[in-house]
Amino acid sequence: MTGVDRSTAWPYDERGEPGPFVYQRYGHPAGAAAEAALGALEGGEALLFGSGTAAVTACVFALCSPGSKIALAEGAYFGTGVTLRQFAPWGLDVVEYDQTGPPPAGADVVWVEAPANPVLTQPDWAAVRAHGGTVVCDATLSTPVFLRPLDEGAHVALHSATKFLTAPDNALLGATVTRDPEIRQRLYDARLRLGLSASPDGAAALLRGLESLEERVRRQTETATELARRLESHPAVQVVRYPGIGGVISFDVAGDRVRAVETSFSLIVNRTSLGGVQSSFESRHRWEGDRIPVGLLRLSVGLEDVDELWADLSAALG
Ligand code: PLP
Repeated sequence: MTGVDRSTAWPYDERGEPGPFVYQRYGHPAGAAAEAALGALEGGEALLFGSGTAAVTACVFALCSPGSKIALAEGAYFGTGVTLRQFAPWGLDVVEYDQTGPPPAGADVVWVEAPANPVLTQPDWAAVRAHGGTVVCDATLSTPVFLRPLDEGAHVALHSATKFLTAPDNALLGATVTRDPEIRQRLYDARLRLGLSASPDGAAALLRGLESLEERVRRQTETATELARRLESHPAVQVVRYPGIGGVISFDVAGDRVRAVETSFSLIVNRTSLGGVQSSFESRHRWEGDRIPVGLLRLSVGLEDVDELWADLSAALG
């Protein structure tokens, strides 16, 4: 893309004073513009990070101290739990809980995912609000089109912007949004001092992605709703999970048939990630082991025609 300022440092002004941008790790023009746009959608102050995982790491540094206890939604993105557990030697205690009910008492941070990837449960917001801990909501699968976590009571909304927010699968990016100036400052300091910054190209991808976000996710929801309906009545499908919003469905086939199904798609691509404009699917048991049924396939619905997608799905299932 032309017009992206990729400078790593900007000259001081004629009086010898720093201008709004000094050194790229602190901030850059594309980042500031994309943060303003995302913040307006979420109703808070956004910060970009080099990945969703970098945003998770920043939250640990901003919200926790040695001995803190995090109550993490069961079935939330596998990598989030893996990242949080990296901090066990620093005294971080992670307990998983069923987010459809109340979070465990005594947790300092309640970490929900709306909906959880790939089990697609939704948090019990009334119970989350009543808990009293600091609340982080990973809203990667909802996007601000379907959920504004800060309005629900979350202190921090978090995104893997690698997914729906940027969409054509060409940027690794994360974001947090908060209304609390102290939390924002701590997240900013963590980004700066731990080197978690987003690149100007990632930020530019977010600006482009936001232009078409609503149109894309509404169309993905329409298609996913119809595919979930058809999957429900397919004889080879045992369970369908679809929360009614967004482009992600997960469904189960018999465990001994999953490899045959996985290798029989032609239009829908077998690969990881989600939220792109091209439909894709993946066995999550591959990565997450026994916490996920062997036959579970996570489908990310793109922008293709619904009947073409169904033709591919039903052929693979057959
Ligand atoms: N949160 C959710 C819900 C995700 O699905 C992912 C990645 O798959 C992440 C966070 C991590 O984001 P990233 O891959 O951008 O580091």
